[in-house]
Amino acid sequence: MKKQGAEKIKKDILARFARITKQAKKHDARAKRRLPGGDTRNASYYTPYPAYMERGKGCYLYDCDGNRYIDFVNNYTSLIHGHGHADIIKATQAQLKKGTVLCSPAVVTYQHAELLCKRIPSVDMVRYGNSGTEATLFATRAARAFTQKDMIIKMDGGYHGSHDLVEVNIRPGTPAKGMPIRHLEGPGIPKSVLKDILVAPFNDLNALETLLKKYKEKIAAIIMEPMIGSLGMIPPQPGYLKGVRNLCNRYNALLIFDEVMTFRLSTGGLQAISDVEPDLTALAKIIGGGFPVGAFGGRAEIMALFDPTFPEGPRRMGHSGTFNGNNITMAAGIAALKAYNKNAVNKINRLGDKLRKGFNKAFKTVGIKGQCTGLGSMTQVHWGDRNIITAQDTFKGMIESQDLQTLLHLDMMCRGIFSAPRGMFVISTPMTEKEIDKAVKAFELSLKVLKPYAADVAPGLIA
Ligand code: PMP
Repeated sequence: MKKQGAEKIKKDILARFARITKQAKKHDARAKRRLPGGDTRNASYYTPYPAYMERGKGCYLYDCDGNRYIDFVNNYTSLIHGHGHADIIKATQAQLKKGTVLCSPAVVTYQHAELLCKRIPSVDMVRYGNSGTEATLFATRAARAFTQKDMIIKMDGGYHGSHDLVEVNIRPGTPAKGMPIRHLEGPGIPKSVLKDILVAPFNDLNALETLLKKYKEKIAAIIMEPMIGSLGMIPPQPGYLKGVRNLCNRYNALLIFDEVMTFRLSTGGLQAISDVEPDLTALAKIIGGGFPVGAFGGRAEIMALFDPTFPEGPRRMGHSGTFNGNNITMAAGIAALKAYNKNAVNKINRLGDKLRKGFNKAFKTVGIKGQCTGLGSMTQVHWGDRNIITAQDTFKGMIESQDLQTLLHLDMMCRGIFSAPRGMFVISTPMTEKEIDKAVKAFELSLKVLKPYAADVAPGLIA
């Protein structure tokens, strides 16, 4: 039972949020009549209802109620240059005049592919789709076709989009003898999926080897984010990714890195930083310059299966999509990638370090147990002081903190800071030290408001 003090703090935060979002509330009520829940993707929903953002400029968002926010969401890491980058607008407008998609190969498509291959040494060739979901769908399918095997291993708490095969253990499974119990992520996904997908805890080479040994010669590939993303921004332990690579080699399985989010960590993604080359890479988000995109690429001999002239047989792959590699996305993506040079990478990664340091200090100053994980421009707030090594560790903190994160998110919105409701903060290139300082200040003030709440609902979090 929440004590009266906690109830009052919650009520105050909700009342402040309601005061600054009166128009949004009306939009929400109307939208809910035609869109289940009022919107069309889960990630943009939060309680009691989301603000209605009307426009963005640089690293700022402006909502329909006249509020301005620093945008730390960046459409879930994808808008690396924030909103309205001049080069991206110019490239997109020029392309728009020529046509959006002409149902023919386009110069911009191979130019975009050349850029990616130059930046990612493990990628010899690329194919495009319109989402990260398609990227991981086709990367896993290519691995199965190439190896002529069916089983795939994914990480507990790993998110790879919303196709059936990877809708397993996005929320971590209950551990049983060191191995997470597998579960489907929701209704509608056939139980038969569990026949072909295995789940290992992140950062645990022994568990991975146990699976590889047990299902010898049946595993087509391991698919993983080199840093667990949505379930906690958990970096790999030193030597872990190299260990995974070695295991794949030893047990004859392909390695797929899902760098849909982590590609923003350097010009060549997290694989360049960790010096580990996967066989296939899934990409999306920043490579489309703000437009829908997905791509997968890798070793030439695997990607050759997608060549329509590949000999007919069990390995030749089909791959269709009306808007695959469309000219608008490609033109915008080229401009975005060109602007994302080493200087830009260093800048946003440095700002990310500053943000994590500032937030960690705020936790200490206020006297709440909490910490930030992440790398470079991507940060995740965790409640509690346990070591965060696996997704299960993140999950324990989520349970212990009850609705503290929801309230932190709303309280920070009232202070002009827009972050992902789950506690993710992402830096974009238009940001400066000024925006980081503002966020750190707001974070500290929100923690102060929430400390008595924490003392009531999660006393273990009080330092
Ligand atoms: N993989 C990862 C690591 C992601 O973070 C996401 C999206 N958040 C996806 C795949 C799916 O991408 P999309 O939403 O474009 O389908």
